[in-house]
Parts: sequence; structure tokens; C-alpha cells
Amino acid sequence: MKIYINGKFYNEEDAKISVFDHGLLYGDGVFEGIRLYEKCVFKLDEHLERLEYSAKSILLTLPWSREEMAQAVLETCRQNALINGYIRLVVTRGKGSLGLSPKGCNDPQLIIIAGQISLYSPGLYESGLKIITVPTRRVAPGAFATQVKSLNYLNNIIAKMEAAQHGYLEAIMLNEQGYVAECTADNIFTVSKGIMYTPDSSDGALKGVTREVLKKIVQELNIPLKTTKLTRYDVWNADECFLTGTAAEIMPVVEVDARKIGTGVPGEMTQRCLKVFRQKASKEGRFL
Ligand code: PMP
Repeated sequence: MKIYINGKFYNEEDAKISVFDHGLLYGDGVFEGIRLYEKCVFKLDEHLERLEYSAKSILLTLPWSREEMAQAVLETCRQNALINGYIRLVVTRGKGSLGLSPKGCNDPQLIIIAGQISLYSPGLYESGLKIITVPTRRVAPGAFATQVKSLNYLNNIIAKMEAAQHGYLEAIMLNEQGYVAECTADNIFTVSKGIMYTPDSSDGALKGVTREVLKKIVQELNIPLKTTKLTRYDVWNADECFLTGTAAEIMPVVEVDARKIGTGVPGEMTQRCLKVFRQKASKEGRFL
């Protein structure tokens, strides 16, 4: 595997950054996960825009233009002869001193890894996922902007571990007010009486790129969608539930906290959305 770091390609074993990089010392940096479908980097510009917003939010000036980053992503896929894959783009604050202050970190690192991901087995898209709510809460917006996709993912990691301790692959995270925010690496949607619902970003939902794609899909399918506060009660009693994310794509959920969702099989609207998503995936983005 060829890994890109600041304009150069390295073999996996030689792809290294400094132990003084504040990305490592403090999680000081931002990242994106992006999919490659049939040589099409899906929604590349949307991912780069979110990266730019994340970087601006943490006062990290990106020394690369959008186009330079896009070309670097495309070239990394080409170097690895990928047709389908998963791309991890990381920007670290760069090498600095041992203090918290980023003063002196003058050389941010742009790292691009293009490989494979299979988060869930193909069979799960047929049978649907069972999830639970975990105690760890979504970071409060007053503590840190929840829209920033930063290298600090520990609360999501802890939440995922809590789910795993009980034998589940994914978990609902509530916000400080007890409303449903999202899952550990996915946004959440429900369908009740023909209307689709998803928590607003003000309730702690990341502005997911897949979530935006889903919004377009439901418009095309004439499905009404509302962003709203969702309680666990709302989710338990929904007719359908599904998750969206770059790695998860659109994953049907058939059980939440031991409550069967609808009839306990992937919902009809969920399946329609998944079908359209798969058609769009290799068509909307930048091509190698
Ligand atoms: N929420 C969190 C916390 C995530 O990490 C992700 C994955 N990036 C998502 C939601 C889904 O976002 P996207 O559709 O952009 O992958």
C-alpha cells in the first residue's frame, strides 16, 4: 500500500510522522472518511468542504487548496490501483513542543490512506442491525463544536466499546438533554406513519455527507422528512429505523434496546432509499 504524506508516497512501513505531532499528543487535527465506488470518489468535494470547515473551526490553516487536496486523494487511489475502497484523509496540527499550545506547530501533515473497509457483512443489509443505547453521551455542543470531525473520537470509541460489551455492533448516543443525537459513527433516521425523521445538528448529529445524500434521495422519492428532536420512545415505536454513514452506507435497524422496530425486518422505505443510494454511489463525485 502506498501512503501519501505531504506530497510524497511511502510504503506502509515507511509512512511515519513525528511523535511530537500534536495530532498524536493531543488529538489536535481533523479527518474525513471517504468512499471510492467504481473509480468514483463519492462526494469528494463535500468531504473536503467539511474538512475545511472543521479545520477553520479549530484555527488550523490548511496550506493546501481544495483542488490540491482533491488531486492528492485521486492520485493516492491511482497509486494503489483501487477501483472500490475507503479513503482516510487526516490533517494533523504538525510537530510541536510538549505543551498544549499549537504555537510552533508550523507544518501540518496531510496524510491519505486508501484501502478497504467492510464495516458490516453483506448479510446484515438484508437482515438489519440490532442496536442499543449506551451511557456515554455525545459531546455537548457547549464543550466542543460537535460538527467538527476532529481526531478526538474517544467518547464515540467508549460508546462503541459499551455496545460491544453487550454484544452489539452499534449504539445510540444521547445528548446531554437525553434526546437521541446519533450513533457512534453514523447518523440515525426513523420512519413513523409515512414521515421520516432525523435529529437536527443542534441535537448533536454530525452533518453527515451520507445524511445529505439521503435528504436528496427522499426528495426524489417524495418522502416527507423532518429534522426534529427524537426521544428513545420515538425510536422504539417507529415503523422503520436506519443508519447512514460513509462506511455503513444505509443500514437498516430492526431492533433498538430489545424493542422490535416495525415488523422486525428492514423497512420498505429504508430499502427503497438503499437501492437509490447504490445507484448514485458510483455516479456522484470525482472520477479517477
Ligand atoms: N456521526 C459520526 C460521529 C461519524 O463519525 C460519522 C462518520 N463520519 C457520521 C455521523 C456519518 O457521517 P458521514 O455520512 O459523513 O460519513
